[in-house]
Amino acid sequence: MTHAQLRAQFPILEQTLADHPLCYLDTAATSQKPQCVLDAMTAYYQQDNANVHRAAHSLSARATQGYEAVRDKLQRFIKANRREEIIFTHGTTEAINLVANGLSNQLQPGDLILLDGAAHHANIVPWQMLAERCGARIKPIPLTQDCRLDEAAFDALLALKPKIVALGHVSNALGIVNPLQSLIKRAKAAGALTLVDGAQAVAHMPVDVTQLDCDFYAFSGHKMYGPTGVGVLYGRYEVLDSLTPLLTGGEMIKTVSFEATEFGALPNRLEAGTPPIAEVIGLGAAIDFLNSLPRAELQAQEQALLQHLQQQLSSIEGVHLYGAHADNLGAVAFNLADEHHQDVGILLDQQGVAVRCGHHCAMPLMQSLGLKGCCRASLGIYSNEADIARFIQALKQVKDLLL
Ligand code: PLP
Repeated sequence: MTHAQLRAQFPILEQTLADHPLCYLDTAATSQKPQCVLDAMTAYYQQDNANVHRAAHSLSARATQGYEAVRDKLQRFIKANRREEIIFTHGTTEAINLVANGLSNQLQPGDLILLDGAAHHANIVPWQMLAERCGARIKPIPLTQDCRLDEAAFDALLALKPKIVALGHVSNALGIVNPLQSLIKRAKAAGALTLVDGAQAVAHMPVDVTQLDCDFYAFSGHKMYGPTGVGVLYGRYEVLDSLTPLLTGGEMIKTVSFEATEFGALPNRLEAGTPPIAEVIGLGAAIDFLNSLPRAELQAQEQALLQHLQQQLSSIEGVHLYGAHADNLGAVAFNLADEHHQDVGILLDQQGVAVRCGHHCAMPLMQSLGLKGCCRASLGIYSNEADIARFIQALKQVKDLLL
């Protein structure tokens, strides 16, 4: 398949905006969806729609079979040891909340939680809530001058014997990739539970949770060419099984009386209520789609394209890049001189170019960069050199207008 054929599978990209062809550089916020994902969800609603797990009838059996088959696909996709280690959530945010809430009974006053200095708010706020409930303490892991995680500071913090270490895999604001394997090994040696926010990683690189040896790994369907409203929490069986459920009610029980309830076994124990069935089916189609592609080749192409984007941006006088390294994945953060990032974004939009502007749900990171916000251009497997050329040309016009 040529790259043009791959791109043609994303119908939304064919539109024009204000007479300009759409140049979509906001994949880190949400990826576009290939036709096969849209088709799978429509087919589910047209042919199989029923609630899962509950009924004796054929439609429910088909819906359940489709839903549970995606759990198997996910197990293979991230190389989990057991299918019960895959919990469907509504996204990364819910997945991290599920863990942070679920550990409430396992923390003591004074226990330490270490957080990635470049974390997305979804990997900060749930831990703050947990710390408040338990009297635990939070310490951020500092970043180096070039925005990487400061490994010497990390080791010094590990000497304080944290109970939990929550890391990002790839920073959503900057695209920096953490050396996870080594960080997790060191955190585990210090006796900590480890959680990885993989929201920005799964679409860009193969993820092997068994090799990473993390306790938890969270990600969202909509950032990996699947639909919104579905995400995944992977958890190592024993720790996952020790979590207090976030939601309780139907589906997650073994027996209920008015006196007492016995919870069911994993994975249902952590999936109360009717799950996002069509979205799970759509996520399954996204995994099939990704599996059908030469991913290593595409990853290399995407990385080369990001480096090209970094070079093109840095060649424009007045453009500042933040934390731009050759081994970053997916995204580049920048500002145009002292212009407000929102103004730059709006003027780019007038030329059909979609970038994200703001604090990128990473206010502490912005603070450490001395910024209120910045622009972020991000790539997906459909991005091509023409997108970069159009973006750079549009940014030069914005510059001419503003400076
Ligand atoms: N973590 C990271 C690194 C993200 O980029 C995002 C989304 O932008 C999230 C967490 C939250 O994901 P969701 O909104 O799908 O729950």
